[in-house]
Amino acid sequence: AKQAGRNRISFFSAEIEEAIRTRHTLDQKMRQAIELDRFEVFYQPKYDTAIDTIAGVEALVRWRDEDGSLISPAQFIPLAEDNGLIIQIGRFVMRTACLQGVKWHSQGKLLRIAVNVSPIQLMQPNFIEFVRAVIAESGISNHLLELEITESVLAHDTNTILETLNALKREGVSIAIDDFGTGYSSLAYLKRFPIDVLKIDQSFVRDMLVDQLDMSIVEAITMLAKGLGLRLVAEGVETLEQAEALKALGCKIMQGYYYGRPQPAEEMSKLLGVS
Ligand code: C2E
Ligand code: CA
Ligand code: CA
Ligand code: CA
Repeated sequence: AKQAGRNRISFFSAEIEEAIRTRHTLDQKMRQAIELDRFEVFYQPKYDTAIDTIAGVEALVRWRDEDGSLISPAQFIPLAEDNGLIIQIGRFVMRTACLQGVKWHSQGKLLRIAVNVSPIQLMQPNFIEFVRAVIAESGISNHLLELEITESVLAHDTNTILETLNALKREGVSIAIDDFGTGYSSLAYLKRFPIDVLKIDQSFVRDMLVDQLDMSIVEAITMLAKGLGLRLVAEGVETLEQAEALKALGCKIMQGYYYGRPQPAEEMSKLLGVS
């Protein structure tokens, strides 16, 4: 038994060692990927059904592996948040998206440019200066830049976050709450924080036509947005039926595979008819 116990201990420590090694390897790989410009920004259309046109895009980061395959952000963003590289990656995404936005604007497409911002980025003391610099350097109209944050951020260090969001507001950028309805914070934050947009989480949209509970949640969010005068975006719209149901509830802006997948800038330009 003693022997088995010792084996078990060495087995576990070997496993942990392995995890630490691969973790370290992944960190190194990520650092290298930043240096080698292996990160790319894809764009997913946000379709405004009221005016039948693409009114904006969401910038979504991709990591192009050596073999050409794409590593999804779900796989590396959590790690990048742990090792701090999200700061550099996030800066790259915001710069790239704003420059691309300006290019589209110059081609006559006044799209809103939405960029995801990690809590780690938002809590950086110089985040506002960074955003200000990106706006100045890219020349993007501040009112066309939208930052998507998750509601968990609002439960964190509320005073610092409140100051940051108010400062962003003064810069003229919009704040969207991503994955709305999936977090743990209270609805009171909708009063306290300067929020412009709610994004209905895709999990609710996915099941709204098959699950009355999800339908009720979507209805409630729609009414909430209307009552508070917030813009509303539905995420994960995959079918015409979902789009029709959302429209019937008064939600006008749709994002999802039905309207277009996240795609490289060149593909997006074709979709916009400006390439
Ligand atoms: P998110 O911000 O909620 O982005 C929406 C995700 O849903 C994207 O996954 C998008 O490709 C996917 N999606 C869009 N339409 C549909 C649909 O109709 N059906 C389904 N099933 N999925 C759809 P993606 O690009 O893999 O990104 C995953 C998450 O990674 C994002 O979720 C966001 O939280 C994070 N992320 C992506 N890019 C960035 C970034 O530049 N910075 C930060 N901090 N996070 C990012
Ligand atoms: Ca988002
Ligand atoms: Ca989302
Ligand atoms: Ca999400």
